Amino acid sequence: MKWDPKSPIFAQAGGSGLTVRNFQDLILVNQMGQRFWNEMDNSYAFLAACLGTNGNLGSNGKSNGGGPIWAIFDADAVTREQWDPRPPNVDPNGWFFSADTIAELAGKIKNPYQLHPVSASVLEQSVNKYNSSVDTGKDLEFAKPTPMFKIQKPPFYAAWSTPILHDTLTGLKINTKCQVIDRNDQVIPGLYACGESAGGFALHGLPRVLVFGRIAGREAAGATSS
Ligand SMILES: Cc1cc2nc3c(=O)[nH]c(=O)nc-3n(C[C@H](O)[C@H](O)[C@H](O)COP(=O)(O)OP(=O)(O)OC[C@H]3O[C@@H](n4cnc5c(N)ncnc54)[C@H](O)[C@@H]3O)c2cc1C
Repeated sequence: MKWDPKSPIFAQAGGSGLTVRNFQDLILVNQMGQRFWNEMDNSYAFLAACLGTNGNLGSNGKSNGGGPIWAIFDADAVTREQWDPRPPNVDPNGWFFSADTIAELAGKIKNPYQLHPVSASVLEQSVNKYNSSVDTGKDLEFAKPTPMFKIQKPPFYAAWSTPILHDTLTGLKINTKCQVIDRNDQVIPGLYACGESAGGFALHGLPRVLVFGRIAGREAAGATSS
């Protein structure tokens, strides 16, 4: 899925994005700059891994999971993937960064969802460790099958790679009238839910939203008028 730069709402998207053909071409790090996953594994558990706090809390004692996830790669990866890492393909306003060293790259990552700046030493450590696993052919941390390419040729890049969900497939418990049910299985009078905020109906996308939106609206209107 790619955003068309001619779209009237392209400014909201910021960039068309770079499609990854081979996840051997990059590593993924969390907001601390730590690698946390075998990039070749695209199972649902990846989403849980992205949300892992790894003990990292903000100054207010709260967490935002792993925060922004960054794809880290080098000039050789750009050649292999045949990417053009310039706007409108990428959005340099907080979502895509490049630098001549890994430490400099860490310092450039400025994004509103980062709890803390990325530590240069942590990101360097992640890249160095990964490069050694290419030497040995074994990823002892996350068991990526035979890591193939070192991240070694400048410029180096960080691209926003936080996964998004098409459907939450969870939410408040409702009955067939879209009334919200409490923990004791009792209706909460006057409260209705539908769409992504309502759980218990695993159907993708707009049909679920529209059908239950209509039911909730109809029931709420009926309840008010009676
Ligand atoms: C990338 C992507 C692609 C998708 N493609 C498809 C597709 O091709 N076909 C399909 O059927 N479905 C698709 N879906 C799923 C579909 O878009 C969603 O299921 C649907 O839009 C959810 O509708 P909703 O009204 O429940 O929630 P939303 O559309 O999320 O609406 C919730 C609204 O509440 C607002 N809001 C949040 N908090 C507050 C607050 N505190 N006060 C006031 N307002 C608030 C939000 O700004 C938002 O406008 C896609 C989803 C994504 C993310």
